[in-house]
Amino acid sequence: MTITPPRIAILGIHLEANAFAPTTTGADFRESCYFEGEAMLAEAAKPAPAMPAEIPGFIAAMNATGTWEPVPILITSCEPGGPAEQAFIDETLARMRQLLDEAGPLDGIYVSNHGAMIATEDTDPDGELYALARETVGPHHPVVATVDLHANISVRMADSADAIVSYRTNPHVDQAERAAEAAQLMRRLLAGERFDKSFIRLPIAAPPVTLLTAHGAYADMITEGQRHIEPDIPLVSVVAGLRLRMCPRPACRF
Ligand SMILES: [Zn+2]
Repeated sequence: MTITPPRIAILGIHLEANAFAPTTTGADFRESCYFEGEAMLAEAAKPAPAMPAEIPGFIAAMNATGTWEPVPILITSCEPGGPAEQAFIDETLARMRQLLDEAGPLDGIYVSNHGAMIATEDTDPDGELYALARETVGPHHPVVATVDLHANISVRMADSADAIVSYRTNPHVDQAERAAEAAQLMRRLLAGERFDKSFIRLPIAAPPVTLLTAHGAYADMITEGQRHIEPDIPLVSVVAGLRLRMCPRPACRF
């Protein structure tokens, strides 16, 4: 009997958005990082890929842990800036939807995401991205994401993903390791495990200067989370958010 390798779609949008900075345009994204389909895999295989390190990290970890068929959809990324131009977000999500529709049956989706994006109109485009992933595979196939330590996790993101793995270092040096962790969780989910989730939003907004992870209160919080890791608790992600600099508008859902 032959077992069909799981087909896992890969997609993502990365932007750390500051509401007070000038708009991040579609041209900014396209000049920085924009790859679709096979071009994603070709770029990821280069010695120094011009894309978030999570993508090659996830691919390498999936390659190392069994058979699978990567289904590259679209990755785009830009340096931190102002809110993303709404038309670019709308076009990109529509293009992702089209490529996902054309991809055929999928067994799971990996979302590579910064997690602190706003657009010029939508306050939660990351949530839109996760909801698209969930809508595509339905309730019974896994959606696993990685995010920056400065992510603003929305209810929509938490509801849509089976697992959200956040960086544990600031300055950030563990992108590939966290993507490998996401791959391990994807393997467990593909094997039939399902995780209960808990999303706890603490009533604090830490000043960015306190968020280094070598020592201090934030390092202690991450260490405390990791202290609880055991076979039955495979993941504790602690994110700090970017709220103080992020969204002064009353309509903001965060
Ligand atoms: Zn960050």
